[in-house]
Amino acid sequence: MKKIRLSASQEEIEIGKVVCVGRNYAKHAEELGNLIPENPLLFLKPASVLIPSGDKIVYPSYSKEMHHEVELVVLIGADIKNANETEAEEAILGYAVGLDMTLRDVQSELKSKGHPWTLAKCFDTAGVVGEFTAKNDFAYTGEESIKLWINGELKQNSQLKNMLNPPINLIKYISTIMKLERGDLIFTGTPEGVGLVNGGDKITAEIEKCKKIETEII
Ligand code: ZN
Repeated sequence: MKKIRLSASQEEIEIGKVVCVGRNYAKHAEELGNLIPENPLLFLKPASVLIPSGDKIVYPSYSKEMHHEVELVVLIGADIKNANETEAEEAILGYAVGLDMTLRDVQSELKSKGHPWTLAKCFDTAGVVGEFTAKNDFAYTGEESIKLWINGELKQNSQLKNMLNPPINLIKYISTIMKLERGDLIFTGTPEGVGLVNGGDKITAEIEKCKKIETEII
């Protein structure tokens, strides 16, 4: 998946880097027995592993424990570095629902060795991204619900206000480390309720005011 589209326009935007945030909801950090980091915990996914809603997630042969993580995805529309509050706000172009698929068994092994998470987070189809709602149509309040179902059963259910660092803080922080550019995506972390998926499972995920996403595990 190399390009995304904003629901309000026909314009296609080339995806740049994909910055992901770990442990951004307290209850999720807790459920995995992780401490809440002082600064946002960042990792990257290559854009080439992303798929659009409707495409299927392929279970890698080297894992037996793939987990679902539903997340708000922020689309960056401007080039920024060391952004202040206003610049961070203005750089947001839109919001979408995303899935950060994670091989938990592989990640635990990597964590115990002090290795990077690449094998657990960057396999082909490790990310699903829905259609983006333009920022003005979304009108972020934090009250928006974020939900994920497997085979119709609700597994994750929270609200965006439960993020420890809301999107603007994340943008400000990330832009002190690496510049953000038009087309970059930020996966803002998952709420509690992550868990195992199996071949044949159908996943549906939704954030209020964003288009629902659907996918299947094969
Ligand atoms: Zn995640």
